[in-house]
Amino acid sequence: MAREWDVVVVGAGVAGLAAAKAAAEAGASTCVVDRMGPGGLLMNFSDLHDVPGNPGGMDYASALLDEAMAAGAELAIAEVTALEPGFAIATDDEAHTARAVVLAVGLGNGRLGLPGEDGFEGQGLSHCATCDGPLYAGASVVVAGHDRWAVQEAAELAATAAQVTLVTQGGTPNTAALAGLANVAVRPGHVTALAGANGLETVEVDGTALPARAIFVQWGRVAPLGFVAAPTTPGLFLAGDCRDAAEQGVLAAVASGAAAGAAAAKFALGKAAG
Ligand SMILES: Cc1cc2nc3c(=O)[nH]c(=O)nc-3n(C[C@H](O)[C@H](O)[C@H](O)COP(=O)(O)OP(=O)(O)OC[C@H]3O[C@@H](n4cnc5c(N)ncnc54)[C@H](O)[C@@H]3O)c2cc1C
Repeated sequence: MAREWDVVVVGAGVAGLAAAKAAAEAGASTCVVDRMGPGGLLMNFSDLHDVPGNPGGMDYASALLDEAMAAGAELAIAEVTALEPGFAIATDDEAHTARAVVLAVGLGNGRLGLPGEDGFEGQGLSHCATCDGPLYAGASVVVAGHDRWAVQEAAELAATAAQVTLVTQGGTPNTAALAGLANVAVRPGHVTALAGANGLETVEVDGTALPARAIFVQWGRVAPLGFVAAPTTPGLFLAGDCRDAAEQGVLAAVASGAAAGAAAAKFALGKAAG
């Protein structure tokens, strides 16, 4: 028997939590579903840039969760595997139905699209400097990407790594945050191969091999929306990083989540009344 809701929010990162709070506050019965538990990307960050008050990532996510629960939303830990028009929502746990849905699934981990890449996951290939940077203290490492978060990862790694090379993947990073960091080099080009017999040993950039014990991939992240049968359906809203060409950042995600949650509640309650 499927559980019935006015609004189901898929993803409990900051966008999803803000959406759940707004929908519940508007009077909609609301469930927010996440495969990992609440917090999304923020669970990786000890410091948040560009957020007034400089909260820690976990503290900020925890405050948003408390607010959503206090407003009356429920949290379910499950992976959403299918979203059918209408809306029937299948998960790896229980099934749900909703009058409106907010998709706040963020962006998946970045991929370089190179042969053998998956074999280096956890063996030198990472997506989180805060989590894995200390494992490579004193080593040479590469960051692949060019957005502000890639630059931030390079700056964070510079505190512990011997050498950090930011490979720009064809973009033009704003490197102001790297000024004065003598052990960071910016290298235009693309990562073209990864190699190593015992974990990662070299990263090839346009055919030239660089010694590197780790690569932090902050490029090629795409929204994991493959489970959605029809992405443009009345009553279906997008929030946070997974929106097309969304500005990525906590404040933008929270603002879009709050707006999507309120719109979803309005749609759902209007449908219930009609
Ligand atoms: C390295 C890095 C550093 C950053 N630093 C900052 C910073 O300092 N300041 C700042 O403002 N921004 C920063 N950002 C950006 C910020 O983290 C994001 O913009 C924000 O967290 C996006 O929130 P979100 O809710 O859209 O997505 P996410 O936080 O990615 O949450 C999406 C959630 O959806 C869940 N999900 C996905 N698919 C499913 C499914 N099928 N079923 C169930 N659950 C699912 C995931 O488990 C996840 O919890 C950084 C980003 C990166 C990559």
